Amino acid sequence: MLAWAGVVRGLFACFVLAWVAMSAAAGAEPASGEIRLYALNCGHLEFRDKSFFSDTGEYDGQSASIVAPCFVIRHPKGILVWDTGLSPAYPKGVNAAGVSGGFEGSVAKMLAQIGIAPADVTYLAFSHLHSDHTGNANLFKSATWIINSRELKWALDGGLFVEEPTFSAYSKAKKILIDGDYDVFGDGSVRILAAPGHTPGHQVLMLKLRRAGTVILAGDLYHFHTDRTERLVPIFNTSRAETLASFDRVERIVRNTHARLVIQHDPGDFKALPAFPAYLD
Ligand SMILES: [Zn+2]
Repeated sequence: MLAWAGVVRGLFACFVLAWVAMSAAAGAEPASGEIRLYALNCGHLEFRDKSFFSDTGEYDGQSASIVAPCFVIRHPKGILVWDTGLSPAYPKGVNAAGVSGGFEGSVAKMLAQIGIAPADVTYLAFSHLHSDHTGNANLFKSATWIINSRELKWALDGGLFVEEPTFSAYSKAKKILIDGDYDVFGDGSVRILAAPGHTPGHQVLMLKLRRAGTVILAGDLYHFHTDRTERLVPIFNTSRAETLASFDRVERIVRNTHARLVIQHDPGDFKALPAFPAYLD
């Protein structure tokens, strides 16, 4: 009997130790080779009339709500933040275009939940420089900013929906200016892929995860699922031809890699990702 009691006590101790180790691991450094994708809710936008999301009339008279996420990718060689959502200072109320929105949270507080301080972030990159993607960029002034040079030039020349003050730290930050695809950590696991048209330097992020497989964060290549099935092009895109070519490119990659494509602004796609601080790996 005594021997059995010892075994039971021993098993219980092992269980407790394993549980403690697993709990600690939720926020700790990933095991070697492991890549994690975290999705953070960094704001929301509401549209009284979303007709400007198609230049062929499909959305006339319809309203919509979208999410403005931020993403954190933990890689053994560093941390990448992809898109930064809306600024907490986003103006309240409905603007002249019938758009309202906001961000009531704090990116720094969310990052603290997984043991990351803004200064720990190695790289910062954006699908594009619209203000619903750059709202918290200045938090990461110590990171190396990976920016498409055509996108930066367009944004600084007064690109539509760009608010330079939200990403002004770019000027003093360490920068890697790119003109096309870019392999962030040099091992093919986290790649920026050029997908212009929404803006001149718009891009998507392709991740190769151990369990989840290939995941593509599609930026604003699409805003809604109907955009994808019907190949709809927003009125305010900078090039219709480039947009259609980017649809073709990304959809071929999705087919060939059996990728999961995440429409970043789609509330359903966002909800389908593990709820922060859980992650995909
Ligand atoms: Zn957007």
